[in-house]
Amino acid sequence: MKGYNPIELAEKLRPKMIDLKNKKVLLAVLAGTEQQKDLTKERFFESIFRSKIYTKPEDKELDPFRGEPAGIAAKKLNVTPDECNAAFLGQINGCNLNCWYCYVDRVCNSANPKYGRYFSAEEYLKQFLVEKRKNQDSPNLDLRLNILRISGGEVFIVPEIIVWMVQALEEFKLEDYIYVWVDCNLVTGDFYWKYLTAKQREKIRNFKNLGVCVCHKGFDRQTFHENTRAAPEFFDEQFKLHRRLIDEGLDVYSYLYPVTISTDNLRKRIATFMDKLREEVSEYAPLRMATPPIKVYGPTKKRLTPEREKALENQWKAMEIWKEELQKRYTPEELSLKPHEVPVRK
Ligand code: SF4
Repeated sequence: MKGYNPIELAEKLRPKMIDLKNKKVLLAVLAGTEQQKDLTKERFFESIFRSKIYTKPEDKELDPFRGEPAGIAAKKLNVTPDECNAAFLGQINGCNLNCWYCYVDRVCNSANPKYGRYFSAEEYLKQFLVEKRKNQDSPNLDLRLNILRISGGEVFIVPEIIVWMVQALEEFKLEDYIYVWVDCNLVTGDFYWKYLTAKQREKIRNFKNLGVCVCHKGFDRQTFHENTRAAPEFFDEQFKLHRRLIDEGLDVYSYLYPVTISTDNLRKRIATFMDKLREEVSEYAPLRMATPPIKVYGPTKKRLTPEREKALENQWKAMEIWKEELQKRYTPEELSLKPHEVPVRK
């Protein structure tokens, strides 16, 4: 299995994704893309921003994100979890991975300014406030917006946006009223430490309403490579960054889409992944992880092959095994906890 170096690619993409002088990042313009066709009018704002519902009525049984970020946001903001089921987000344009199941069109992940617009944190936040205000008393709780998500693309290629957003929220005196949820693909090496000063990192650490949601791109080297086309050894890098973000003092949650083309030794491969998480990240890391299924959106559909269709079928089996392996390692009390009720580390 060969593949490219995603950290080198991130370095190449970074200058096009950030305007340091004006403190802006490149956000994807979704108008005219396949992704736009997946968005309803009431959830698509100014051709760039959108809102995502975490658990749709048809998913209630499945609860794909295990009640987060709603659970933690509701607790921090002192509202009900039903009022935190949707998040407002902009997508950073530029990603160093090429996941076939990504719901974003490639052009919106290419760091090409032709398919994006530069936004400051203040502009991003103002757009959030406009949309929040429109529906703050709506009887449809899924229209209420209490979570501001910084998504991508890959946010950690330009981690400055996180501290700029925290500063903007403090400047507007909104730190007690909005929960910030930041995505990370775990393959940006030391960017967070290289591009943020100790003081900036301290500011983020001390911002109480912020969670980081990291996504493991496969449960072994084989699935990591299958999913992303990056070199398989970067599978191991994910555990290091996951651990380092926890050591940094951040409130870290995680998820894994358990797609796999092959079901050979599936139980063993999943059990090994779970134990690697416990040993290299934290004893409790699997309890803070969700394993939602991939849904086939427009951009994903265009990349489907017979093998990938197979991987989508196999994800259900992998999710079952994941649950069974959790039961072997944790008590019923531990398993009944929501991710935010589980300590980040022992
Ligand atoms: S890391 Fe996320 S944004 Fe990047 S290609 Fe994969 S799914 Fe898409």
